[in-house]
Amino acid sequence: MWELKNKVALITGGASGIGLAYAKELLRNDLKGVALIDINNENGNKAVNEILEEFKRKNCVIFIKTDITDEKQLENAFETTIKTFHQLDILINNAGIFHEVEVEKCIDVNLVAVIKGSMLAIEKYFPKYKSAPEGLIVNTASIAGLQPVERTPTYTATKYGVVGFTRAMGGDVRYQVGKTRMIAICPSLVYTPMCNATEDCVPEPFLSMIVDCVKNKPGQTPEELAKKVIPVISNAPTGSVWIVTTAGCNEVEFPS
Ligand code: NAD
Repeated sequence: MWELKNKVALITGGASGIGLAYAKELLRNDLKGVALIDINNENGNKAVNEILEEFKRKNCVIFIKTDITDEKQLENAFETTIKTFHQLDILINNAGIFHEVEVEKCIDVNLVAVIKGSMLAIEKYFPKYKSAPEGLIVNTASIAGLQPVERTPTYTATKYGVVGFTRAMGGDVRYQVGKTRMIAICPSLVYTPMCNATEDCVPEPFLSMIVDCVKNKPGQTPEELAKKVIPVISNAPTGSVWIVTTAGCNEVEFPS
C-alpha cells in the first residue's frame, strides 16, 4: 500500500486554484511537506501564509518562484525542494495557461514543461531522493484532453498531449526508471482564476462564447476537486487517466 503519509510533493502552479487545493488536501493526509512552484510571486507568498495559518505546522511548505518554461529555473525548483525536505516522492505537473494567442507559450507551459519536469523527476531526482520504492507523477490535463473544447484548439491540443504523454510514458515499462507511477487527471470546469479569460488570451468573438459556456456549465470548486482526486492517487495504476466532474472521479477507458 502506497501511503501519502510523510511523503514530499513538488506542485507546479501551486500558488493558486487547483494546485493550492491539492497542496492543502495532501497536507490533510499527513504529507510531510509541499513545495509550491509558481511564476506568481505574490500569490505564492500568500499561499504559504494561508497554509501555515491553517495547518499550524512549521516547515511543511515552501514557495519557489519559478517560470517552469525556463529549464534552469525548473531544475532549481527541484534542487531547492531537496535541500529543504531532503526527499521528493511526488511531482504534480499542474501549472497551465489558457492562451489561444501566444501559441508557443501555451504549448511550453502546458505540455513541454510537463515532459521536462517528468524527465527530471524520473531520471535525476526520484532515484536518489524518494522515501519509498515507488515515486508518483500526477499530470493535470483537462476534459479538453479527452474531447475537443470549442474554440480552444491550442489549449485542447496541449491537453491531448498531456494525456498522450501520460499513457505513453506511464504505461511503458521501459520508462519505469527507479519505479515511477504516472497518472493524468482530467477535470471538467473548475471555478478558478483561469475561468476569467481575457481578450489577450482568447480573441473575440470566441471569448464571449467561452464566457457564456463557463456561466452555463455546472462546475466544481478546487477544494471539491482535490477531495475527489487525492484518495485516488495512492493506488491508481501507472498510465491511467481519470475524469473528474461534479459526479465524481472515474478512470477513463480507451479502446485497446
Ligand atoms: P490557475 O490560474 O488558478 O492556476 C494556474 C497556476 O499556474 C497559476 O498560479 C499560474 O501563476 C501558474 N503558472 C502559469 N504559468 C506558469 C509558468 N510559466 N511557470 C510557473 N507557474 C505558472 O488555474 P487552475 O484552474 O487552477 O489551473 C490548474 C491546472 O488545471 C491547469 O493545468 C489547467 O489547464 C487545468 N484545468 C483547469 C480547469 C478549470 O476549469 N479551471 C479545468 C481542467 C483543467
